Amino acid sequence: MTTYKQAHKAEFEANKLAKFLFRMVGKAIADFNMIEDGDRVMVALSGGKDSHSLLDILLTLKERAPIDFEVIAVNLDQKQPGFPAEVLPVYLESRGVPFRIVEEDTYSIVKRVVPEGKTTCGLCSRLRRGVLYRVATELGATKIALGHHRDDILATLFLNMFFGGKLKAMPPKLVTDDGRHIVIRPLAYCPEKDLAAWAKHRAFPIIPCNLCGSQPNLQRQQIAEMLRDWDKRFPGRIETMFRALSAVVPSHLMDTKLYDFAGLRPSGQPEPDGDTAFDEEAVEDVSPQVVRFT
Ligand code: SF4
Repeated sequence: MTTYKQAHKAEFEANKLAKFLFRMVGKAIADFNMIEDGDRVMVALSGGKDSHSLLDILLTLKERAPIDFEVIAVNLDQKQPGFPAEVLPVYLESRGVPFRIVEEDTYSIVKRVVPEGKTTCGLCSRLRRGVLYRVATELGATKIALGHHRDDILATLFLNMFFGGKLKAMPPKLVTDDGRHIVIRPLAYCPEKDLAAWAKHRAFPIIPCNLCGSQPNLQRQQIAEMLRDWDKRFPGRIETMFRALSAVVPSHLMDTKLYDFAGLRPSGQPEPDGDTAFDEEAVEDVSPQVVRFT
């Protein structure tokens, strides 16, 4: 049985978590100018914990924000076997959120086209993206909001480094490949474990993501496991790595397209911020205070 003291503590923790997540989402929106006055924001709601949290937090921020913007939820029913089609409409109606459910049988296409045993996620995501872009146009959405979070961004950075040979993560804001839409990721600063705790606290009706029967990308799983392990063994490391994405020093990398190494000449003047060669590089410890909710 839950005692009064336990209930009070749980409520206190939930309030702290809410404040943290609202602050992080508000900061990401402001830092990247994600949402502007008059925007119609289409939230891609898969039914997972992240997209549920995104919609929930945006709805609260909409009430508090000094600007006026609309939120519309869109779910794509890909006709996977066992997809509980009634769950999201019932939930969205209960919350009074404008929404559209789009029925497109991409599941059959993927099953037909991808040979047995091969991963289906690549084609499935491309088909889903095409449908979402089309719906965004139909709805007159000015922004498409996706539920990727901080740990997705870091995992993508490592995937690209380990397997793609690129120093490239996942942008918080981008123009789509068809050049017609702007995608935003308002959860860019939010740790996954805090979103999971929020989803549990808010008791969202979660739709499992394995209905298609496909195995998620093995490399991504391994990287996620590596990051979780680092987070346990070296508190603060994830936060420090994430900060590095906003503190890029092109002169200390090796991309000649980003920095004019060829044209580098001595200025003849001492430069306080100039570099020192020969010495071991001093690394300032910028590990943040780790705030944990879970
Ligand atoms: S796990 Fe299934 S539904 Fe998700 S992207 Fe892969 S194939 Fe598509």
